[in-house]
Amino acid sequence: MMRFTLPRDIYYGKDAMSVLKTIKGKKAVIVLGGGSMKRFGFLDKALGYLKEAGIETKLIENVEPDPSVETVMKGAEVMREFEPDLIVAMGGGSPIDAAKAMWVFYEYPDTSFEEILQPFSFPELRKKAKFVAISSTSGTATEVTAFSVITDYAKGIKYPLADFNITPDIAIVDPELASTMPPKLTAHTGMDALTHAIEAYVSTMNSPFTDPLALKAIHMVFDYLPDSYKGDTNAREQMHYAQCLAGEAFSNALLGIVHSMAHKTGAAFSTGHIPHGCANAIYLPYVIKFNAKCAKARYGDIARSIGIEGSDEECVKALCDKIDQYNVMLNIPKTLKEFGVLEDEFKAKVGEIAVNAVGDACTGSNPRPITPEEMEKLLTCTYYGTEVDF
Ligand code: FE
Repeated sequence: MMRFTLPRDIYYGKDAMSVLKTIKGKKAVIVLGGGSMKRFGFLDKALGYLKEAGIETKLIENVEPDPSVETVMKGAEVMREFEPDLIVAMGGGSPIDAAKAMWVFYEYPDTSFEEILQPFSFPELRKKAKFVAISSTSGTATEVTAFSVITDYAKGIKYPLADFNITPDIAIVDPELASTMPPKLTAHTGMDALTHAIEAYVSTMNSPFTDPLALKAIHMVFDYLPDSYKGDTNAREQMHYAQCLAGEAFSNALLGIVHSMAHKTGAAFSTGHIPHGCANAIYLPYVIKFNAKCAKARYGDIARSIGIEGSDEECVKALCDKIDQYNVMLNIPKTLKEFGVLEDEFKAKVGEIAVNAVGDACTGSNPRPITPEEMEKLLTCTYYGTEVDF
């Protein structure tokens, strides 16, 4: 038996946030990141709507990027004291991911972090609160997914939490919130969305329920990302929807080794963090060439859906060329070397990174199985920009 799960309601379009006026509840806790929602006036708007709905509110502010286990536990404690029947998470991926995890420990205070690490093993939520997610970036799609990434800084590990219990009840996809993203963030999050859709389409978990969402998202990203990057309002709006469609696809079809590699290299080098979407954008064409041995017909479908013609082999090559062109246009480097990772450090660490990447939760649904040795070769190709021919 398979399962396909999305939020019960997705409100989108101009002024989608005003649905908060009609929401039923008594007390809402609002989980926020660093302050952009406040600065741009979106928090006040949300508070105004919730007041109209007669809902008492309390803020949990300053969730850091890559939220920690401590932040989650502190937030859950605030929730236990305030006893909200609504959790409203607003902002980028981090506050929404953190709020999802807080929700679990609010409803189950005696559960430990270790107990929810096993994917799809969560206790049943919604006994105390429902969850509303309002996203301000166009990439992670956490407003519609069953995932949350929490970091244990003491152990230096990122925990990807996964369970349909943490799929939000209501997602609000209001394009006005995404209009404030700077160009670099627009580029990185846009390529993250493209990666989600492509990995979901070729995943071993792909299905007739997720394929149309993935293909439409891919089409829209190729159509709208260039103008969205330049700040065009309509293109921004379409990208906000495209990333959400990609999220609906990958929340149910899962991902592949582009994400495994991005997860394990993101914080691996002393020269600085590689932003998630940027890492994905760099790795994507290399991984397509590696996976094509097992999935060239699926990549052929993707290429033909965006107007590329030819045999599956020709389609794979043309699709990779197109991604390369987009990366150039978006000022994304072609290799890890170009990104600034030092050669000696790369060589010293690549073996261990390869083992970690193969062990990542996203590797299981990749269309082509991969050994640590192959992963090391693949990572080396992404460092020097050499051809993937194995
Ligand atoms: Fe991603």
